[in-house]
Amino acid sequence: MEKNFIVNLIDVTKVYFIGKVKYEVLKGINLDIEKGDFVAIMGPSGGGKSTLLNILGLLDRPTSGKYFFEGKEVSKLSAGELARIRNSRIGFVFQAFHLVPWASALENVLMPLLYGGGITKEKIEYAKNLLERLGLSAYLHFRPPELSGGQQQRVAIARALINNPILLLADEPTGNLDSKSSNEVMDILQELNNQGLTIVMVTHDQEIAKRAKKIKILKDGQFIE
Ligand code: ADP
Ligand code: MG
Repeated sequence: MEKNFIVNLIDVTKVYFIGKVKYEVLKGINLDIEKGDFVAIMGPSGGGKSTLLNILGLLDRPTSGKYFFEGKEVSKLSAGELARIRNSRIGFVFQAFHLVPWASALENVLMPLLYGGGITKEKIEYAKNLLERLGLSAYLHFRPPELSGGQQQRVAIARALINNPILLLADEPTGNLDSKSSNEVMDILQELNNQGLTIVMVTHDQEIAKRAKKIKILKDGQFIE
């Protein structure tokens, strides 16, 4: 695999069985993502978008096919090896933010370090820096319930960036936000992409998707042209 590819999926499928009934959620996905890409994935609800994003994020495995992450085949790695790559190389942002409600904005951003790396003076400075860059310098010690939706999503973005990921995965990052906050979040994602961060974002909003560099439509488990 060439060096500038972050992701190569080759004929990836995902099949669920519920009882004896077989659900083919992904039916042969081929996807190449280069360093610096900003890809929006659209498509109808139930089409497999979150399933695909979870596979990209090493939270789930393909049923068949191959996944190369940074040129290394990861389909068959152990759970521990996957967790190590995930924690150090991939950041996640979700529709519902998934912040810890009793922890401050700053503590939330530091949280991933508890799973590796540890909290150092430098990392605390870096976390403050990230929050400042995202316009939250006045809110370091606010807890999520004291913040607006847009502010909470910006905290979640800072948390996703604390380990300097190479790939940011965002599943409907503006799905719970009003249009003003959505635009602010998209400004941030575009700015991060301009600085070189590779982003894959799921959205059902055409206007939001247009802010990415490429749009892919996933329908019935396959990309359509
Ligand atoms: P989207 O994000 O495009 O709305 P999903 O990837 O969440 O779609 O889901 C695709 C299909 O896979 C849905 O029909 C969903 O019910 C099914 N599905 C997702 N996760 C599971 C699971 N763990 N077990 C069984 N079916 C699942
Ligand atoms: Mg989904």
